[in-house]
Amino acid sequence: MHEQTLVESTTEHCRFCGGGLLTSVFDTAFRDAAVADDERLFFAIPGALCVPCRQLYVDQQLIGILGLAEARCTFAIESDRVLRPAA
Ligand SMILES: [Zn+2]
Repeated sequence: MHEQTLVESTTEHCRFCGGGLLTSVFDTAFRDAAVADDERLFFAIPGALCVPCRQLYVDQQLIGILGLAEARCTFAIESDRVLRPAA
């Protein structure tokens, strides 16, 4: 069962390549444009990933909260696919 979240409509398409977006929860890495070596990890980020060009779309409000306005996504993997050992 895939439960839809309230992130964005699944009918959205990538603004770069026009590909369909995969709406899910992602574990991500962002690199701040202002600080070259500063890569920050964020887990369980709701968003939409364009599979063909690897562009990750995240809610603008969430980007503001996380302070990622000047950053770009360097890595994203769907959290659902990560098997977590029971703690
Ligand atoms: Zn794309």
